[in-house]
Amino acid sequence: MSLFLQVVSVSEANDVVRHLAVPSRTEKVPLIDAFQRVLAQDVLADLDIPGFTRSVVDGYAVRAADTTGASDGIPSMLTFKGKVAMGTTTDHPIGPGECIYVPTGGILPEGADAMVMIENTELFGDDVLVKKPAAHGENVLFYNEDFSRGEVALEKGRRLSAQDMGVLAAVGCTEVPVTRMPRVGIISTGNELVPVEEIPHIGQVRDVNTYVVSSFVHEHGCIPVSYGIIKDNREMFRTTLLNATKECDAVLISGGSSKDDRDMAAAIIAEQGDVLIHGVAIAPGKPTIIGRCGTVPVIGLPGHPASAFIVLLIIGRHLLDGMTGQVDTGARTVRAKLSLNVPSAKGREDYIRVSCKDGIATPLFGKSGLLNTLVRSNGIVRVPAGSEGLETGEIVDVILW
Ligand code: AMP
Ligand code: MG
Repeated sequence: MSLFLQVVSVSEANDVVRHLAVPSRTEKVPLIDAFQRVLAQDVLADLDIPGFTRSVVDGYAVRAADTTGASDGIPSMLTFKGKVAMGTTTDHPIGPGECIYVPTGGILPEGADAMVMIENTELFGDDVLVKKPAAHGENVLFYNEDFSRGEVALEKGRRLSAQDMGVLAAVGCTEVPVTRMPRVGIISTGNELVPVEEIPHIGQVRDVNTYVVSSFVHEHGCIPVSYGIIKDNREMFRTTLLNATKECDAVLISGGSSKDDRDMAAAIIAEQGDVLIHGVAIAPGKPTIIGRCGTVPVIGLPGHPASAFIVLLIIGRHLLDGMTGQVDTGARTVRAKLSLNVPSAKGREDYIRVSCKDGIATPLFGKSGLLNTLVRSNGIVRVPAGSEGLETGEIVDVILW
């Protein structure tokens, strides 16, 4: 008989986890160190960008109306009125039937509203033949078209990408307000675990979870703090959890999270705090614990690496995002056709690993103890709790890793 008589739904578990997450304080870091940090405040443009109307091509500044109908056969003939050098402007406004050469990034002369690329022109004595019409605004960035002064350039809660770094630079944000990176303690438990450097004897396995969990934590903008391998020994477990909850903002334990007599995670968390949830209606990942020691959230993950990973992805992520302040941008998904039936028990949210290619999602059925399906798959398909499964040919959303 199942030892889990009371399990909660994934959404209830996530509500509890979000509630437990204490948002990190704000700190300022130099721009160069802000990459992949989470923005703690909106960043406003300090200037109008661009600060002048400029060309985005090498060519001739024109009045668009003068080029209407221009073609190779019947080009528009414009009077060449000189050149604008980079970073300088001209006193000569463009009148009807005139043009001025402007390099990429150069200031557009008064009166011009479009640029014709040099490739579409030909010099003809003192005139320029324009062989392609330019529409109003073509090849031109208008004054403050990008950002206007005081406008929100980047919203708080963003994990700063390479592109975001460029925008921060453009708006002169030299000291970036970001959330402090939370420290997340990681404890791997199990008598059978050995460090990766060792060759496991019969009955032993290498500690995989320390690396899965640490990497996940790192990927989510937190600092992983590993407490190593803890044998199934109450005294060691107690001391390690106590240290971890003192030194970290959250703790993730893997292994020993079930309800067997040998599983001590829930009992030790309860001694030092509260177990709020023990058992979630998710597969893989039912033996999940959500608790706290003082104000420090503690999640007990199942030992099987694939289960631990799915629980991190579906539940643990909300704890980390809640602490870093990262806004949930939603999972990256693609739609695909299922190539096989996927049975599922009602009342339980199932996550099936799939290999998704060319619009076809092939389920990789495997026991939760297998590692190979984690790397041969490139995503998962969710089977909702109310469903008894999915059928071949069904169109599903694949949540990509
Ligand atoms: P447990 O949740 O402690 O009952 O462990 C379930 C299974 O996961 C067992 O086969 C363990 O050996 C395995 N396991 C637990 N922790 C780890 C780990 N850190 N790395 C690899 N396998 C683990
Ligand atoms: Mg164990």
